Amino acid sequence: MSTRKTHIKDNDLVSVLSGKDKGKTGRVLGIIPSKNRAVVEGVQMIKQHMRPNQMGQGGVVEKEGTVHLSNLKLVCPKCNAPTRTKRQVFEREAGTRTKKYRLRVCKKCGAVAEQE
Ligand SMILES: [Zn+2]
Repeated sequence: MSTRKTHIKDNDLVSVLSGKDKGKTGRVLGIIPSKNRAVVEGVQMIKQHMRPNQMGQGGVVEKEGTVHLSNLKLVCPKCNAPTRTKRQVFEREAGTRTKKYRLRVCKKCGAVAEQE
């Protein structure tokens, strides 16, 4: 098992399905595949107490916690709504060969839901 089969990737725009941030959307800042969790911008904010150091005065800093991938849904850029995705194989001419690649597409409208 060398390939990650997460349905969510870095920089995706996702919607949160449950928890205190239910309904929020944000960008995926990072994925932790081994834990099936992701860090989403502005979601699951946790307060961290910082000691004063060279970087600043310290105090309470808010930082994103992690969200389980099953609680996230990709937002389709066309439907502009959280959607289920499927993987579709596309072909592209590459010189004399045809390259196959898989992209996630929206189950509702069929639009490619990959962020470039
Ligand atoms: Zn769609």
